[in-house]
Amino acid sequence: SKPLVQVRDLQMHFPIYSGLFRRQTGAVKAVDGVTFDVMEGETLGLVGESGCGKSTCGRAILRLYDITGGEVAIDGARIGKMSQGDLRPLRPAMQMVFQDPQASLNPRMTVEAIIREPLDEHTKLTAAEKEKKVGELMDTVGLNRRFAKRYPHAFSGGQRQRIGIARALALNPKFIVCDEPIAALDVSIQAQVVNLLEDLQEQFGLTYLFISHDLSMVRHIATRIAVMYLGKVVELAPRGPLYEEPLHPYTKALLSAVPEPDPALAQTRERVVLQGDVPSPANPPKGCNFCTRCPAVMDVCRQIEPTYQEVRPGRFVACHLYESTGTADATAGHP
Ligand code: SF4
Ligand code: MG
Repeated sequence: SKPLVQVRDLQMHFPIYSGLFRRQTGAVKAVDGVTFDVMEGETLGLVGESGCGKSTCGRAILRLYDITGGEVAIDGARIGKMSQGDLRPLRPAMQMVFQDPQASLNPRMTVEAIIREPLDEHTKLTAAEKEKKVGELMDTVGLNRRFAKRYPHAFSGGQRQRIGIARALALNPKFIVCDEPIAALDVSIQAQVVNLLEDLQEQFGLTYLFISHDLSMVRHIATRIAVMYLGKVVELAPRGPLYEEPLHPYTKALLSAVPEPDPALAQTRERVVLQGDVPSPANPPKGCNFCTRCPAVMDVCRQIEPTYQEVRPGRFVACHLYESTGTADATAGHP
């Protein structure tokens, strides 16, 4: 398969203003140099602890922000620097499913109106055609058409997420960013929503970026997984290899905290407890951004930022432990 979404050195910095004259005194580097592809038809999991920049990364890729730097291409179209006006015809192809269906659905609109809204904005369908399409979308996500005139509050959390998914599907997207789509739901219905997303992917050939803090959940849905720490992707690997043999010290620590269902693997897994807190993204450490907490830290880590590179086929890591040609050579030319 080929890449549908290409993200290159993506940066999303938010300025910090302070003092009497509200001068910019710094920036929160929420996303700070992220590079990956999302292959057509795959689910790329984007995982990390809260505050690591994963949601911001997903929104930046969809150009819900004006990005600070880097490039994003969707289906070959470079959208990183496009104006919102130029983006408009591309919007249907790229959609988002939000974490909290309660907050993302307008409480004063009926379900029918919520699902119809993107059709109103982006299509020239007649009222009858829209009504038909809304009905079909409700069927597709497993919502009873008889409830079309009801308001979001009349639905359960899981049903509300189905409404959000129906709306995201309305314009036949290719790519959907799912931002913790089940994190706000009862455990008992999380699996139903995950199964629905998987069925829809198969049915419509969708490509997902699936954002989650939950490594044991992502394991079930993602084809490949990217691990984020403090605004950067530190490791990206196919699902199997990542869980079997994590390379980056941060991935090892994260995985050591989740229950391992395979007893053979569980035996090899050492519990790693990280010391200290995640540094502020307004003031990340020099060198490797994980150096203040890494159990394997070396002198070079505090001086030179490791290069994010493919260290084995399909496996990308940013860590001096894996730089192939020795740290001094490997980092030459990568200030
Ligand atoms: Fe740890 Fe150094 Fe690797 Fe960073 S570069 S993860 S500090 S070993
Ligand atoms: Mg988030």
